[in-house]
Amino acid sequence: MRDFATELQQRRDAGLYRTRRLVDGPHQPALTTDGEPVLAFCSNDYLGLASHPELVSAAAAGVARYGVGGAASHLICGHHSEHHRLEERLAEFTRRSGALFFSTGFMANLGVITALAGKGDTIFSDSLNHASIIDGCRLSGASVQVYPHGDTEALEAQLAKTQGHKLVVTDGVFSMDGDVAPLRELAKLCRQYGALLVVDDAHGFGCVGPEGRGAVLQAGLSEDEVPLVVGTLGKAFGTSGAFVAGPTMLLDYLVQKARSYIYTTAMPPALATASCRSVDLVEQGEQRREHLARLIGRFRREVSDMGYQLMPSLTPIQPIMIGDPHQAMALSQSLEKRGILVTAIRPPTVPQGESRLRVTFSAAHTNDQLDRLLDALKMFAPQRIRESA
Ligand SMILES: *Cc1c(COP(=O)(O)O)cnc(C)c1O
Repeated sequence: MRDFATELQQRRDAGLYRTRRLVDGPHQPALTTDGEPVLAFCSNDYLGLASHPELVSAAAAGVARYGVGGAASHLICGHHSEHHRLEERLAEFTRRSGALFFSTGFMANLGVITALAGKGDTIFSDSLNHASIIDGCRLSGASVQVYPHGDTEALEAQLAKTQGHKLVVTDGVFSMDGDVAPLRELAKLCRQYGALLVVDDAHGFGCVGPEGRGAVLQAGLSEDEVPLVVGTLGKAFGTSGAFVAGPTMLLDYLVQKARSYIYTTAMPPALATASCRSVDLVEQGEQRREHLARLIGRFRREVSDMGYQLMPSLTPIQPIMIGDPHQAMALSQSLEKRGILVTAIRPPTVPQGESRLRVTFSAAHTNDQLDRLLDALKMFAPQRIRESA
C-alpha cells in the first residue's frame, strides 16, 4: 500500500496542508467559526443573498409544499415543475433560448464538456480554468490543448493547426484572478475556425453585466456567438445548484448525453423555488452592485498605497499576490489573529510561485467592516516593513 501518512506529512512540510473550518450560524460577513467571532472576506456570496430573509422564506414555503427530497433523477420522475419554472426564469435572465438546471457547477462542467467532446475531438482550454473544467476535459477523452491565460493569439495558432470538431472552454470571470476572459475575441475566433464556445461564468453572474446578467452579456454577445453559458447558483445567487443556458437543441442533446445530469438525484424542488426568487433579487440588485463597487474601489486604492501587489481585477475577487506559500499562510494567520478571515490560496489551485491572499467582497460588507480589514492589512504592509527596515 502507498504511504499515505508520509504524503500527508510532506504536504504539511511544503506549506500546502489543507484544513476545514467549522462555521456556526448563518452565512454572513460576521461569522462564528470554531467558536470564535470572525469577519470573513472569503465567501462567494457576492451579493449577500445566502441568508436573505426573502430567500429563506421562499425556501421554507417550498419545503412546506414539496418536502425536502429530490426523490429521483430528472429522467426518471424527479423533474419537478419548480425546476422547470427555474429553468424558464434562468433562460430569460441570461437572454438565452433555454436553460438546464444541474446540481452543481462542477457537475455542469463535467456534463457539458464530456457530452460535447470526445475521442478524436480537440478541446482548447485556458490555463487558468476552474478545476471542474480541467476534470471535464480529462474525462472527455478528447485531445486537450491548454492555451496561455487569455492569450488569443496562441489560441488562434492552435485552432488553425487543428482539424475536426473543436470546443473552446473558458471561465468568464476567472475564479482566482478576478479578471475577465477576452470574450469578444474568443467568440470571433470560434466563429472563424468553426469551434463551439462554452463560457463558465460562475463568478460573473450577479456581479457583472447589465442587471448582473454576466460577462457574456456585458460583452454584448448573443447565443449565436456564445452558444453555451454555464453558471452556478452557489455564488452571487446565494442558493445552490447550477445551470447551462443556450439553444434548446444543444440542451436537449445534454439531456440525452450528460452523465452528470442523467445519473444523479434532482435537487430538492424547494431549492428551485428559492432560486427563482433569487434571480429576481439579482436582477433588482443595482444598489447591492453599486455598494460592492464602492467597497472594491476603496480597497484597491488603499491597499495599493500600502505597497501590496494587486491584480487587474474589477470584480469582487481581489487577490493580494504574495508568491511564497508559507508567507501567504503566515499573513492569513496574522489576519486571523486579529479576527479577520482571508484565505491563502496555494498550489495546486494556483501556479507555483503565485500563492496569494484571495480577498472577496460581498454587498453585505459594511464600510466599517472594510475599515477593519484595511487597518489589519496596514499592520503587515510591505510599505511599513520597508520603512522600518
Ligand atoms: C465555483 C466554480 C464552479 C463550481 O460551481 P459549484 O456550483 O460550486 O460546484 C465551476 N466553475 C467555476 C469557474 C467556479 O468558480
